[in-house]
Parts: sequence; C-alpha cells; structure tokens
Amino acid sequence: MEKIKMTTPLVEMDGDEMTRILWKMIKDELLCPFIDLKTEYYDLGLKHRDETDDQVTVDSALATKKYGVAVKCATITPNAARMDEYNLKSMYKSPNGTIRAILDGTVFRAPIVVKGIEPTVKTWKKPITIARHAYGDVYKATEMRIPGAGKAEIVYTDEQGRETRELIHEFAGPGIVQGMHNLDESINAFARSCFNYALDTRQDLWFSTKDTISKKYDHTFKDLFQDLYDAEYKEKFEEAGIEYFYTLIDDAVARVIRSAGGYIWACKNYDGDVMSDMIATAFGSLAMMTSVLVAPDGTTEYEAAHGTVQRHYYKHLNGEETSTNSVATIFAWTGALRKRGSLDGIDELVEFAGKLEEATIETIEGGTMTKDLALITTLEQVNAVNSQDFIKAVRAKLESKM
Ligand code: NAP
Ligand code: MG
Repeated sequence: MEKIKMTTPLVEMDGDEMTRILWKMIKDELLCPFIDLKTEYYDLGLKHRDETDDQVTVDSALATKKYGVAVKCATITPNAARMDEYNLKSMYKSPNGTIRAILDGTVFRAPIVVKGIEPTVKTWKKPITIARHAYGDVYKATEMRIPGAGKAEIVYTDEQGRETRELIHEFAGPGIVQGMHNLDESINAFARSCFNYALDTRQDLWFSTKDTISKKYDHTFKDLFQDLYDAEYKEKFEEAGIEYFYTLIDDAVARVIRSAGGYIWACKNYDGDVMSDMIATAFGSLAMMTSVLVAPDGTTEYEAAHGTVQRHYYKHLNGEETSTNSVATIFAWTGALRKRGSLDGIDELVEFAGKLEEATIETIEGGTMTKDLALITTLEQVNAVNSQDFIKAVRAKLESKM
C-alpha cells in the first residue's frame, strides 16, 4: 500500500513525560506506517525549552501562524519542584499561555464519546463542546476591601482628562467592591473563533450570558456576537445548515441538561471555567477530552486536555508497566490531520483521520481499553491493557480498514 502524501507540513510540538512516550508510540504505530508524515518539528520538552530560553515555544507558535495547523503534546508548566528537578534557568510561563497569547485564540474542549463510557446525564448522546473566553472579567479584576462607611464609585478618565462617574454603592459599614473590564477587540476575536469553529465542525453554536441583569457589561457581549453574526456569518451558517442562538445562561443550563448534545456552548470566562469542569466530569473521563485552540483567523492547534501524566511516567522510568490512555492524544493528531487535509484538498488524509478515530473508538467499544476506562465502563467483557498494547490493538483495527 502506498503511503498518503502531504503537501504542507503540520507544526508538531513535542512535549513531556508520559505523553511524550505515547507521542512516539502513536507516530511509530498509527501514523508513519500509513502517511508520509510531513511535520515541522518543535521540541517543547522542558529540557529543550530551557536550552532555548523558551524561544522554541515562541517559534512553534509563529510557525503555527505561518502554516495554519499544529498538533501539541502535553507539556510541563514549571513550578518550584520542576525548577529543582530540571535545574531550570527560569520559571518559564505555561507553553499553552504563550501560544495562546501569540495566536489570540479561544480554547474549545470536547469529550470523545464512546459506548461503554456513559455520561452521567442520560440524554447526552453527542459531545458538548465548551468554548471559554480566555480574557478579562473576574480574572483581571481589581478588588477593594471597604473598611467602613463611605462612597464607592467607578471613574473613567478619557484622554482629555474628562471624568465620567457611576456610583457603585453608598456604604453604611464595611464591605467589598470589584472592578472588572473587557475589550470589544477581545470579545470580537472570541466571537469570530466561535463562528469559525462552528462552521468547521458543522455544529450549532449557543452563547449565553446574564444580560438581563448586566444590562451594559453582558449585554455588550450579546450585541457584539449578534452584530458580527449578522454582518459576516448569517449566510454561511444557513448554507451549512447550522444555527447560532443566544439565550440567558439560566435557560442555557436547563437546555444543556435536557439536550442530546452535539453543539458548541460559548461561555464568558468564569462561566466557561466552571462549566467545562462540569461537562468534562459528567462525560466520564479527563483522559477522553480534547482541546482545540482556534485563532480568529482560523489558525488551529490541537491537543489533549489532560497533562503529562507524571505519576505514570515515574512508574515507566522505574521499568513498571503503565496503562496510560492515549485516546485524546490520538484525537489531537486526527483533528490536525483532518484539518490539514481539508485545507490542502487531500481527501485521503481526511479519510485516514476518520478511520483512525473509528478504529480507536471500536477498540474501546470492543472491550479493549486502558485501566482508567476499565474502572468506569459499563461494558461487561473488558480486556484492560497496557499503554503499548492499546495502541497495538488500535493498529490492528486500523489495518483492517485500510
Ligand atoms: P495530569 O497529567 O492530567 O494527570 C492527573 C491524573 O489524572 C493522573 O495522575 C491520572 O490519574 C489521570 N490521568 C490524566 N490523564 C490520563 C491519561 N491519559 N490516562 C490515564 N490517566 C490519566 O495532571 P497533573 O498530574 O496535575 O499534571 C502533570 C503535568 O502536566 C504538570 O507538570 C502540569 O503542568 C502539566 N499539564 C499540562 C497541560 C497541557 O500541556 N495542556 C495540562 C494540564 C497539566 P492516576 O494517577 O490516578 O492514574
Ligand atoms: Mg476550572
């Protein structure tokens, strides 16, 4: 069988610990035998980030901007313990934060749904993707403890020195205040990423805020989304047969629980933080969550939502057997290959991505899975396997489809 050819390289960001081990297994067993894999490789492993003073992270993000599609392995975000462990020159920032700042993107988190790993909510049949706005609000707020009686105001001073004031509260005794902000530019970029991703994945887009109570702040989010939709996306959505709709967050929560899934739910920063943990937990497993960073210009980076699985890595270094779930990392690759294939018009690559996803899902549904899933599955015949044997089982299924 001839290998599938690629025309444009995929930006490949290698990472750390157990996921770095899985990364190589996935390439050796599931990708390279079938694809003439063309990547521009960046080693984001902590050792190499340190050697390059983290320049490699910046370079990988710039390459992603250039080529449009990247796939990323989980990476260590250094803390004090890591400073000692890797003898680092500096406590580098989170690579995901650095990449997100350069691409100005929105993160979409979606669960991989398989039979046998049942969501807590019985009506959910398809994934629910959460899009979280990653700028401002309470995460960039200024707070003040009010010691006693007095007046608190918001003051805006324009460039000519003119002041506009709004009373927050006339305090009769001690209390608290908080000042938050957001930017039209950031909200528009968020909206654009959401509309693009909905079109890309052909899913409806829901957006919710509390605009009935927050008549200026949240209402601005609602208006900016609607304006951009009307100006640039309405026709495209109609052509794609998908829907954009705005609803109050209380209503959204109730609808989500009654829904069958299969849509994107865009949330403000705090709502997205809270709701993504709820959705992830209710779908069954962190090891089955994917994460996609989408920039307003459509640039896309795919990864697993989980970390480097440090505890398993230390077992691996001790020569012990591990049973680490590689599914989200496999899906990071299939997402990136499908996107690359569709941008370059390479149907074989798009089809390959679909077959590899099917092979992975069918392997689990057939009862072969890693220990984390074996513990929670509703299937009766279960064959719990180690990291390597799971990937080999997927390979066997994949070969039967090629
Ligand atoms: P983690 O790597 O997500 O793992 C936490 C625990 O969740 C594991 O010990 C394991 O539980 C379970 N788990 C997660 N993924 C799994 C998988 N694929 N298969 C089986 N079990 C899985 O989080 P962490 O241990 O808090 O963080 C480790 C490192 O990852 C940190 O240095 C952190 O900075 C980094 N991190 C990176 C990213 C990223 O690059 N996107 C995201 C989060 C964290 P058991 O031990 O009980 O088996
Ligand atoms: Mg959270």
